[in-house]
Amino acid sequence: MSSNLSQSVQSAHILVLGMGGTIAGLAQNPQDQPMNYQAGQLGVNDLVRHVQSAIPDGIEVLSSQIANINSRDLTDAHLTSLGLAVQEALNNAQVRGIVITHGTDTLEETGLFLQAVCGKLAHRLGKRVILTGAMLPSNAPQADGPSNLLDALRWACTAIDNCPGGIYAVMDGRGCMAMDLAKRHAQSLNALIQDSPTSSVGLINPSWLAGVKSVQALWDEDLPIPAAGEWPWVEILTCHAGARPETLRQWLGSKAQGLVIAGTGNGGIHAAWLAPLTDLIDQGIAVVRTNRTGAGATVQDLPEIDLPSCLASGKLSAPKARIALQLAINAAKQAKLVGKPLTWQDFFARIADLPEIR
Ligand code: ASP
Repeated sequence: MSSNLSQSVQSAHILVLGMGGTIAGLAQNPQDQPMNYQAGQLGVNDLVRHVQSAIPDGIEVLSSQIANINSRDLTDAHLTSLGLAVQEALNNAQVRGIVITHGTDTLEETGLFLQAVCGKLAHRLGKRVILTGAMLPSNAPQADGPSNLLDALRWACTAIDNCPGGIYAVMDGRGCMAMDLAKRHAQSLNALIQDSPTSSVGLINPSWLAGVKSVQALWDEDLPIPAAGEWPWVEILTCHAGARPETLRQWLGSKAQGLVIAGTGNGGIHAAWLAPLTDLIDQGIAVVRTNRTGAGATVQDLPEIDLPSCLASGKLSAPKARIALQLAINAAKQAKLVGKPLTWQDFFARIADLPEIR
C-alpha cells in the first residue's frame, strides 16, 4: 500500500489512515452526474494534500493507505489490518491523534470494532481516533469530504477539556462516539447520525463537550483483534411477515458460529422460527436478538422470555451486534486457550452494556 509514512518519523504528527470510500471517490461527469462515481479512487495522500493549506500551523500530518475500497466490500481481513494499524499508531509516542477516512456504508461496523479492540488503549493514552467519510465524491461541486476531513484533523489535534482519548466520528459538522454512529439515509449529507445514547458529544465545539465522560469507565480491557483468517462466521437474519422455518433450518450443520436475528418491533421473533432456532442453539450456535426498526434498544426477555443462552443486543443495531458477536466468540476462544472460564455471553455483554455518559 502506498504511504508517505516513514518509520523514521521522529516528530509529533497526526496520522491519517485511508480506507477508501466516497471521500476518495471520483465521478466521471461530476457537474451533471456527481452520484455516478467510483469509491476509493484517490489515495489518502491526495486527500490530505487537498486540505493541506487549511491545516492549523505547526501540525504535521502523515498518511498511510490501509485499503482503498468501497466500504460495502469491507472484509474481516480489512478490519484486522485497520485494527492493528490503529493499535500500532496509538502506541507510537510521535502520533498525537489518528484520523481514518472511510466509506460511510459500513462506518458503523468499523466504529464499533475499533471501540471494542482499541477504545481502552486510546483512552488510557489520551489519544483521539476520529473516523470520517463523505456522501459526495471528491470531485463533486459541493464535495463534503474536505470539510469533514478538516473537522476530523482539528478534533484529533486540539486539546479539549473533558474530551478524553477514545474512538470518535465526525460527519457533516457533528461528532459522536464512533460506536454510536449509524447510516440512516441513503443519500443525504447528514446520512450518518448518532443512533444510540451512549454519548452526546454533539457539534464539534468545546462547549458541547463539557461533561462528557468516557464510555470506558466500566470497560475492563480491549478485546483481542481476530487474525485475518480467524473471524467467526456470523450472519444477520431479518424476521418478517411470512417467515419460514426453512430459512433457519438451512444453517443446521453449517460452519456458522453465530446468528444475529433482527426481529420485528422490539425484537420479536416469528413463531415459525422458534423451533429451528432452538435446534440451532442446541447445536452450539450463538444467537443474539436485535430489532429491525432502525432505532431503540432490544431488551433481554422483552417482549417474550429469550431462548436459553440467547442474548439481546441492547443498543447495538444488527450490523454492530454482528461485529460484537464475532469479537465475543473470538475472545471466548482466546480466553479458553489460557484457561479462563469466560463465555461469548460474558464478552458480548461487556460490549453491549456500556454505561451511559453523563
Ligand atoms: N459506498 C460508499 C462506501 O461506503 C459510500 C460512501 O463512502 O459514502 O464506500
